[in-house]
Amino acid sequence: MGVLNISLDRNVFPSCNPVYKGVKESVVQDYLREVFMTTLYYRHPDFLYHDTGQGHPECANRLRSIARALEQPEFASLTREEPPLGTEQQIQLIHPQFHIESILKAIPEQGHHYLDHDTVLSPESKQAAFRAVGAVCDAVDKILAGQADNAFCAVRPPGHHAKPDLPMGFCLFNNIAIAAEYARRHYGMERIAIVDFDVHHGNGTQAAFYNEPNVLYASTHEMPHYPGTGYPTETGLGNIINVPLSEGESGLAFRQKFRNIILPALRNFKPELLLISAGFDAHKNDPLASIRLVEEDFQWITQELMDIADNYCNGRIISALEGGYNLNALASSVAIHIKTLMGD
Ligand SMILES: [Zn+2]
Repeated sequence: MGVLNISLDRNVFPSCNPVYKGVKESVVQDYLREVFMTTLYYRHPDFLYHDTGQGHPECANRLRSIARALEQPEFASLTREEPPLGTEQQIQLIHPQFHIESILKAIPEQGHHYLDHDTVLSPESKQAAFRAVGAVCDAVDKILAGQADNAFCAVRPPGHHAKPDLPMGFCLFNNIAIAAEYARRHYGMERIAIVDFDVHHGNGTQAAFYNEPNVLYASTHEMPHYPGTGYPTETGLGNIINVPLSEGESGLAFRQKFRNIILPALRNFKPELLLISAGFDAHKNDPLASIRLVEEDFQWITQELMDIADNYCNGRIISALEGGYNLNALASSVAIHIKTLMGD
């Protein structure tokens, strides 16, 4: 590799660059990746203005606590991105127009509107929800263009409970499902895996792809718990893998179940792109559930997923924030997740 110890620009395609003349392209690409391991961190002030009201666990301070953790010098090389607004066309990849219109019509001019007892709209919710969709789709564009290796989207509202035709569980539009469908439709990706380690079952994502064998959805979640779905017998066309955890289970059970069931299934599926519904509410200090993961468990699963992505999809991972409601546990868990994505 010493042959390339010169100033490099990852954006200059190797075969066009005289610097790389005579060097095998695969060698150049491996080298560039090693040198320029890049992680994108999507964040935007709009996410802070989606106001769920006093005392609601899914609050703007979640993102503030993450942002503070990422001010540490070890995150200096993280590439900060401001996402564009998503479009209705992108949302329509998963949600019918009536779903979009019913949400937009319900947005209040002031105060709050409750779509159900815990899914809340405020005047700025459209900006935040569209921006969240814009973040995951922009991440797909940039990762598939090779501009970065992986991405973490610190978005809210979260998405994995949003069914194609029903907002629920703090979620309006299903960000990660939209990202998967965007990659399929715009880039012709044929096999996309979505791994969801949020403590709640991603019923919306499951519903979106229940009859789509080219998208693998694999979830660990506490059971019985909200939203009540996620039984191992829910298998779709063989592309849905539900692995429940029992109340009080720890990282030992979490890792065993990933090792025995989900990781082999991912290897067998050989995804071209790996998406993560990254919820951190399985942390032992989270107020909304009773699983007892610690930061090292999130580090472990992130590394395992990176190894799979390295083997099958050139390292391509897009991770989007879902839950996580203890502000300190959320910040430290996201920090270790991102640090691992950065290759450290
Ligand atoms: Zn959750």
